[in-house]
Amino acid sequence: MRLTLRIWRQKDATSPGSFVTYVKDNVVPDMSFLEMLDALNRELVERGEEPVAFESDCREGICGSCSLVINGIPHGPGRGKASCQLYMRHFRDGDTITVEPFRAKPFPVLRDLIVDRSAFDRIMQAGGFISVNTGGAPDANTIPVPKQNQELAMDAAACIGCGACVAACKNASAMLFVAAKVSHLGLLPQGQPERYRRVRNMVAQMDKEGFGACSNTFECEAACPKQISVRFIARLNRDYLRALLFEP
Ligand code: SF4
Repeated sequence: MRLTLRIWRQKDATSPGSFVTYVKDNVVPDMSFLEMLDALNRELVERGEEPVAFESDCREGICGSCSLVINGIPHGPGRGKASCQLYMRHFRDGDTITVEPFRAKPFPVLRDLIVDRSAFDRIMQAGGFISVNTGGAPDANTIPVPKQNQELAMDAAACIGCGACVAACKNASAMLFVAAKVSHLGLLPQGQPERYRRVRNMVAQMDKEGFGACSNTFECEAACPKQISVRFIARLNRDYLRALLFEP
C-alpha cells in the first residue's frame, strides 16, 4: 500500500508545531500502526532527517503509552483497542492518514507525538493506593469479596491510564480515568479505609491539574481502549457526594 501521512511535528514544548506530509510506500496490511511508523523512521534516518518521536512500550495494549490521535480519533478507528493494536489493514491503498498527539492542556506536547501525562501520576499519588497491609497472597484470598464487586473491580482495574478519555473529551475531562481508579479500590474491602479521603483527594488533584468537568457526552467511553464504562463516573459522583456530606 502507498499512504500519505500527515504527521504533527513539534521540536519541543515551547516551539510551534505543524503538520508535515510524508509518502510511505510498501506498507503491508499486517503491519501494526507503530511498525509502520518504525518503517517510516528508518527511511527518515537513512535520508538524514529527524525521525518522528512517538511513545511505544509494551505493544500489547496494556501499558497505555501509545498515545496517538489517528484521523481525529484517540487510538484511531476500531473500538476497544490501543494504537499499538491497530493494524494497517484498517486503511486502504492511497489513503491519507493524519496523526497527532493527544490534545489537552494538562498533557503538554514534549516532542512530535509525545505528550507529558505525568498529571495522571500526580492524581494517582493523591489517592490511588491502599495503605493497609494485606499480607501475602494467601491472606488476601481469605477475605471474602462478593462476586459482583470482584467483577466490577476487575472491569475498573482494566484502565491502563492512557489518557484517550481526556483527548476525546471536548472539556479534557479526566473523569473516566479517575472514576476507574476510585472504583477499582473502592469496590474491594482493602480499599475501604481511605475510600472517601481517596475520592476527595483524587478529584481535588484532577481539578488542580486543569482537567475540565464531565458534561456526559460519553466520548470518553467510545475512545477507551479498555471500554471502561461511564457507569463508573456515576459511582465516582456518588462516593464524592457521600464524602462531602458524611465524611469529615
Ligand atoms: S479510562 Fe480508558 S481511555 Fe481513560 S485512561 Fe483509562 S484506559 Fe485510557
